[in-house]
Amino acid sequence: MEEAVRKLLEAATGEVAALGDDLKALEQLRVRYLGRKGEVAQLFKQLGKVSEADRPAVGKVLNEAKVSLENLLEQAQNRLKESASQRRERFDVTVPGRKPLRGRLHPITQTAQEVSRIFNWLGFDAVEGPEVELDYYNFEALNIPKDHPARDMQDTFYISEDVVLRTHTSPLQVRVMEKRKPPIRIIAPGRTYRCDSDVTHTPMFHQVEGLLVGDDISFGDLKGILTTFVHQMFGSGVGLRFRPSFFPFTEPSAEVDIQCVMCGGKGCRVCSHTGWLEILGSGMVDPEVFKMVGYDPEKVTGFAFGMGIERIAMLKFGIDDLRLFYENDLRFLKQF
Ligand SMILES: [Zn+2]
Repeated sequence: MEEAVRKLLEAATGEVAALGDDLKALEQLRVRYLGRKGEVAQLFKQLGKVSEADRPAVGKVLNEAKVSLENLLEQAQNRLKESASQRRERFDVTVPGRKPLRGRLHPITQTAQEVSRIFNWLGFDAVEGPEVELDYYNFEALNIPKDHPARDMQDTFYISEDVVLRTHTSPLQVRVMEKRKPPIRIIAPGRTYRCDSDVTHTPMFHQVEGLLVGDDISFGDLKGILTTFVHQMFGSGVGLRFRPSFFPFTEPSAEVDIQCVMCGGKGCRVCSHTGWLEILGSGMVDPEVFKMVGYDPEKVTGFAFGMGIERIAMLKFGIDDLRLFYENDLRFLKQF
């Protein structure tokens, strides 16, 4: 019996020493040795088989063994708890920090901000307006009545008969002129919507509208402002040309081409070998639009222009598929 007790103590001491810092394993040891059906309890059961004369001495040995096992396990537990709290407090100042992931602005946002920056510098204030727009502001007040063929030029999302998702940022021209007296010098950047989707069209895209109204504003002013913008945006060496065009709300109207930024005007696939790229539409505000907002076309003149931000961004960053902007592929977005 004494021999069995000695072996048990020896085994328990060895196992406790081999515990490492595992509190759970320590608890398992306690159950195995001191639990109700544990090894010590099994030894006490055998006490009945010991002769009556030896029983007190053996009982004493067993009791002592139980106490020293309890002490052993308790010491081990204290040791483990202490080293765990020490680990928590330890702080190594030499470990390199974790690099935080830095976000960045979407290329469309970057381009819109750059366009705004240039026009702010030229004295234009930025204004905003509703994306869900009345048919009146999106079309009628811009000289596009219900039966006007120009409505076919734009595939419109209708909310109801009189409410649309704005197809351009031009409604802001009307909204601003209704509220303010000339002189006016604004840009209106924002989202626009058309029922269209392919390599060069997305249902949602961004435009910047510009409007300048005052005394004696001429086509020369229009040319000067837009030339300055192009030179700021694409570099002072870039050539541009004005091509006659048609918009219902400007007269005369012109589209602006810049020298191809890919080939420098020599001709390539991007510019269809013409050497020129169309970047915006513009013109002198149509007298009919002035009449709609209560301005006297005999007294004030002005010009308006509009451009697609995606188009500018594609040319500036050399991107040939519009859809890349909206796929949210980080490998693409991280390049800007
Ligand atoms: Zn080219």
